[in-house]
Amino acid sequence: MLRDHRTVTSVVTSDLCMSCGICQPSCHVDAITVINDKKRGMFIPVIDETICDFCEEAQVGKCVIVCPGVEVNFTKLSEKFIEGQNHSPILGNYDKCYYAHASDHDIRFTSSSGGLVTSLLIFALEQKLIEGVAVITMDTGLEPRGIIARTTEEVKAAAGSKYCPAHLGDALTEIANSDGRYAVVGLPCHLHGVRKLEKINPRLKTKILYHFGLYCANTNSFHGTEYFLKKNEINPEEVSQLRYRGMGWPGMFSLKMKNGEKKTIKRGTTETDKQRRAVFSSAFHYDFQLPRCFTCNDLTAELADISFADPWNKKFIAKERVGKSMLVVRNKIGDELLKLAAKMGAIVLEEADPEEVARSQNVDFKNGAQSRLKALNFLGKATPHYVGKKQTINIRYMWNLGFHIMSFLPKNRLTLKLLPLVQFSRRVLLKFGNIL
Ligand SMILES: Cc1cc2nc3c(=O)[nH]c(=O)nc-3n(C[C@H](O)[C@H](O)[C@H](O)COP(=O)(O)OP(=O)(O)OC[C@H]3O[C@@H](n4cnc5c(N)ncnc54)[C@H](O)[C@@H]3O)c2cc1C
Repeated sequence: MLRDHRTVTSVVTSDLCMSCGICQPSCHVDAITVINDKKRGMFIPVIDETICDFCEEAQVGKCVIVCPGVEVNFTKLSEKFIEGQNHSPILGNYDKCYYAHASDHDIRFTSSSGGLVTSLLIFALEQKLIEGVAVITMDTGLEPRGIIARTTEEVKAAAGSKYCPAHLGDALTEIANSDGRYAVVGLPCHLHGVRKLEKINPRLKTKILYHFGLYCANTNSFHGTEYFLKKNEINPEEVSQLRYRGMGWPGMFSLKMKNGEKKTIKRGTTETDKQRRAVFSSAFHYDFQLPRCFTCNDLTAELADISFADPWNKKFIAKERVGKSMLVVRNKIGDELLKLAAKMGAIVLEEADPEEVARSQNVDFKNGAQSRLKALNFLGKATPHYVGKKQTINIRYMWNLGFHIMSFLPKNRLTLKLLPLVQFSRRVLLKFGNIL
């Protein structure tokens, strides 16, 4: 557990931070700035101790109360915000599941999955249901920004998944200081934090009308993207714009270079060359994961009104090339928006079998969260506290933390030299019967 609960500084030093930035708007004296910590390769909050009043000397600061890195009470938060009548250990509480895509071909083609997030946000803006939406945009370079998009063009420009740290601190601060109603798009951890923030700030709760959640297996540090680019003989410094997804489904990386050149790189999921596939997995799963992601047990964004994912089922992998999304609807507000958007022709919706939806993802990694948590705890690391999600402890998951040893090491010249050795050992261990 965390030793010092007064500010989120201890969350960062305990490796529990996941770059979400939710602590920033929780601060009543604006003492928190979120910065890019180049060493860690992630966003972290920095407290100005000349301004911080330690929440008037409280034992637990508000920034720690809202921090999803420290605690998530799924039972209480679901009771308060999610009405879904059905339950599955993978999907959480839900009402219905769908396959869907944007009616607009360009949105569908340029977004990550089927462009459902982008088309629903544009629909809600155009119908004047909301004034703006907190999204993650990446207009220049390799560092994304959380903004409030208030126009169709701004929402379109923010489409696509960013597989790197992304924070909503500035965007949520803007919502807290503005009038009107908004939507928020985020990963499971963003939404854990947003819901906790709404609990202590009821005014903010009335301003955030829609909570859109993205499924998330894990987030990797900025070092992961840099490593992947270098392995593809691209100098990260020369990149003027990067899109991780888009150009159909499942899509590809597309880059604009500072000299005007355009490049594309296949994603691991479509890569047939084993060596190149291993580089992709190393960069975006095995070796550059944020340490806090190892103990996250929420794949499907269980605290969202609607959760959005890729339909990784055989039938779509074999045939779908333009774009398709998979949706889990968790309450009335999400259901009403979806049905209205379908009725008015903004999206194409088809009901899906929840069991098929649950089976479509590789849940093995998330199933091991509680086991890894125990192992890290045993090693003396601070770990998060969860209420309301039961997982059995399995020694296999404890051991396979070793597969990810690089994620816990700082990235410098020396440790990066070890990377080929770690990758080779992992390949050998996997080949000879998944010893770990
Ligand atoms: C780090 C990460 C891991 C993911 N893991 C999985 C997975 O394991 N399985 C799976 O099925 N799907 C996963 N997804 C979700 C998937 O990639 C798509 O985002 C989702 O299906 C929505 O597609 P769409 O076409 O409807 O979204 P789009 O219309 O392309 O819109 C995407 C929206 O998400 C916002 N966004 C992008 N990146 C981030 C970010 N890092 N943090 C917060 N908001 C962001 C954008 O601002 C945009 O509004 C992941 C996404 C991310 C970012």
